[in-house]
This record gives sequence, C-alpha cells and structure tokens, in this order.
Amino acid sequence: MAGRAVTRFAPSPTGLLHLGHAFSALTAAAHGWFHLRIEDIDRDRCKPEFETAIHDDLSWLGLDWPQPVMRQSDRLPAYQAALARLAPLTYPCRCRRGDIRAALSAPQEGALPAGPDGLIYPGTCRGRDIRDAGPDDVIRLDAGRAFDALGIDRIAFRDQVIMPGNDHGLTRDQFLDGIGDVILSRRGMGTSYHLAVVVDDATQGITLVTRGKDLFDSTYIHVLLQRLLDLPTPDYLHHRLIRDDAGRRLAKRDDARAIRHYRDAGVTPADIRRMIGL
Ligand code: GLU
Repeated sequence: MAGRAVTRFAPSPTGLLHLGHAFSALTAAAHGWFHLRIEDIDRDRCKPEFETAIHDDLSWLGLDWPQPVMRQSDRLPAYQAALARLAPLTYPCRCRRGDIRAALSAPQEGALPAGPDGLIYPGTCRGRDIRDAGPDDVIRLDAGRAFDALGIDRIAFRDQVIMPGNDHGLTRDQFLDGIGDVILSRRGMGTSYHLAVVVDDATQGITLVTRGKDLFDSTYIHVLLQRLLDLPTPDYLHHRLIRDDAGRRLAKRDDARAIRHYRDAGVTPADIRRMIGL
C-alpha cells in the first residue's frame, strides 16, 4: 500500500514474550507493514528455544511478517563496517564498572549520574587511540567530537504520541551531561544495542520505529548515530508500557505474564488484546 509506514518489532530471545511484548508487536503491526527482527547480539543470554517461542507466540496472536527474518547475530560485518566508519570519533576504553563508579563518586556524594547508556562516562580513556584497542576493551563514541565533526549543536526527532508536532531535541551540552560517550562495541560482542539498532533500522528500511517509552531517551543516541552514518532518521512512536497490578513494568522474569502461559490456560488472542487495552 502506497505511503504505508514500515515498522518492526525487535525482541531479544532472552525469555518468553509477555503482555508488554504483545502490546508492542500489535502496535507495530497496527501502524504499518510489520517486520520481525531478532536482537540476539548478547550470545550469553539468548536461547534458541526463546527464539522459536517468539515466532510461535506472534503467529498465535495473528501476526505475520516478511521472510527471511533478520537476526542480529548474522550481521556482525555490517556493524563492523559502521564501526570502522566511525573510528576517527571513537576510542577504546578499558574501564570496568567499578573504575567508572570510583571516578564518578570522587567529587560528589549521592546517586551517580546516569543516562540511557548507563553511568555517564567520566572520560578517563578519552585520549586513547582507537588503533590501540585491546580484545578486552569496549569502544566508545567521543560524543563531543561527534557533534563537532557534524558541525551541529543540536539533534532532534519527532514522536507520534509524545508531544506530537513538537520536536524532541538535545543540545551538544545536554547530550554530554545527560548521556555522554556511549558504548558502540561491547566486550566480546563487536557491537552494542545502539549501533546495531541504527544500522538495522536503516537496512530494513524502517520508516516508523514503534517501541516502549522506556527507550525514549535512547533515541537521542540513535539520531546522533544516524547523522554520523548518513542514515535517514525514521519517525518514532514510543508507546505506553504495560504494567502489573502493582504498577511495575513487566519484565521477562515475570513468567506469570508470559503469553505462553495465557495460551496454556485457554486465553484467546482476542482476550489478550482486551487485557492490554486494544
Ligand atoms: N531489543 C529491544 C528489547 O527487546 C528492543 C529495541 C528496540 O525496539 O529498539 O527491548
């Protein structure tokens, strides 16, 4: 259909899909031509049986999607190519979490500053040359240099449900204070969630990214990476989160809310839609 958005649902096979995933997948399907992508870069946590269950549960919900399904574990060369392109703006970092906590807590008391990529990295390794990267290093983007290389002072995106019509922007300084030098390649993975998602959304031609509000702040990182890699910025729709009776966001460990368990108990796909307010 002309003009129809291309959307995706991108679960990680680290557990059974729960009601929050059902909401996310059905939202993607309601807003466009829906693609499935398996985000399995974290080989230690991903399991084939959960991947099979994803296909099964989504089909049971009445969804279908184009084949073949993109799997991030097949895409390392694409991530490596993006990383190579960004190399002049990156540096290897050998700090462990404990080093970062120690560096951050020295000047201040109380909660450590954190953003969508975790603790705001204090820059200890920023001067290191990317050519000196060792096998145990992570690779970070020098965010200040990234803004300077682009010659911009602000990045922005639009969201179809959160203040639609306005843009959501961050200046260079706000990015450095609230997000910092994000990780582009994690130890033993050859990429990170942020880098992989940006490369894959572009490769799949995604024009509308639908996902939970919990990832809203990550979008600033994705937009910066899109600018650096000359990739289009899609539209975004960050949807509400499905919560349990105590108001907590559902997590994969909440097995009781797994679609699979509802199926086993005789609940229908129509019941699931009702339960999540669709
Ligand atoms: N793989 C992510 C998750 O399971 C989703 C990432 C995204 O939609 O951008 O939470």
